[in-house]
Amino acid sequence: MSALNFLPTLTGCFAQPAAENPTVVMMEAAYRHHGIHARYVNMEVPPEKLAEAVRGAKAQGYVGFNCSLPHKVAVIEHLDTLGDSAKVIGAVNCAVKRGERWIGENTDGKGFLSSLEEVTDPKGKRIVIFGAGGASRAIAVELALAGAAKITLVNRSEPRGAELSELLKRETESEIELVNWRGRYRLPESTDVVVNATSIGLFPDMDACLELDVESLMPHMVVADVIPNPPLTNLLRAASQRGCRTLDGLGMLVNQGATNIEYWTGTTPDKGLMRAALEAVFLRPE
Ligand code: NDP
Repeated sequence: MSALNFLPTLTGCFAQPAAENPTVVMMEAAYRHHGIHARYVNMEVPPEKLAEAVRGAKAQGYVGFNCSLPHKVAVIEHLDTLGDSAKVIGAVNCAVKRGERWIGENTDGKGFLSSLEEVTDPKGKRIVIFGAGGASRAIAVELALAGAAKITLVNRSEPRGAELSELLKRETESEIELVNWRGRYRLPESTDVVVNATSIGLFPDMDACLELDVESLMPHMVVADVIPNPPLTNLLRAASQRGCRTLDGLGMLVNQGATNIEYWTGTTPDKGLMRAALEAVFLRPE
C-alpha cells in the first residue's frame, strides 16, 4: 500500500481582480482527470503586495503560477530569467520553477500559435492583427518569431500601435506595417490570417463589432478571435458565413493552460476535456 499523501502540488494565479478568472476550472478539471495531485488557486493580489505574494509562493513550495492583470510586467523583477519570447514581449503570464530557478514564460502567444498551427503554418504568411495591447503583443511576437512574412497592425491609438510596431521591427525579421484604425478597415486580398486581438466582443458587450468591411473577408483566410467568452463572436460568425476557417479565443485559452500544465507537471493534458470544462461555465448564445 502506498503512503498517504495529503500535500498537493501547488499552482495558481495572481491577479486583481481575480474572482472572474475562469482558468481554474479547466486546470483543476485536467488535474483531476489525469490523477495529478495538484491544486490551482485564484489569488487576489494588489500591485503593492506582488513581491510578498511571489515570496510566499516560493516559500510554500509552488511549482509555478500564472500572472494576470496587472502583474504581467511587474512580476519580471521577481524571477531569475525569461524564456526567449517572454524576453521580447516584455511580459510574463506563467512563472515556472526549474530546479532552484524561476523562469518567466509567456504562454498567451504560445497558446494562440498552437491553435493556429492546428490549421495552418504561420511561416511565410501575411497576417493582419487588430489591436496593440498585451494580447496583440504576445501574439504578434510569436507569429513573427515563427516566420510570418508580414504583420499588419491595425490599432485605434497611434502611440500604442507605433510602440508595438517598433518593437517588432527591432526584434524580428517580419515585414511590419502599422495602420491607424479610422473607419471601416478593408482587408487586403493577399491576407492569409486575420486576428482580433482587441477586447471588442467580450462579455457582456457581445453585440460589439469590429470596424471591418466584412465583404473583404475571403474564403482563403483563417480568422481568429482572442475573445474567449462568448466563443462565437460577431467576427467569427461573419467569417464563417463568408467561408473562412475560424479559430475561437477558447482554443487559445485552453492551449495556453495546457502549456502551463506541461511546464509545471510534465503531463500533456487532454485539451478537449479542458475546453468542455470551460464551455460548461461560459455563456453561449444560440
Ligand atoms: P489591452 O487593454 O492591453 O488591449 C486592448 C486592445 O483593444 C487595445 O489595442 C485597444 O485599442 C483595443 N480596443 C479596445 N476597445 C476598442 C474599440 N472599441 N475600438 C478599437 N480598439 C479597441 O487588453 P489585452 O490585450 O490584455 O486583452 C485583449 C483581449 O484579449 C481581452 O478581451 C482578453 O480577454 C483577451 N485575451 C484572451 C486570451 C485567451 O487566451 N483567449 C489571453 C489574453 C487576452 P487602443 O490601443 O486604441 O486602446
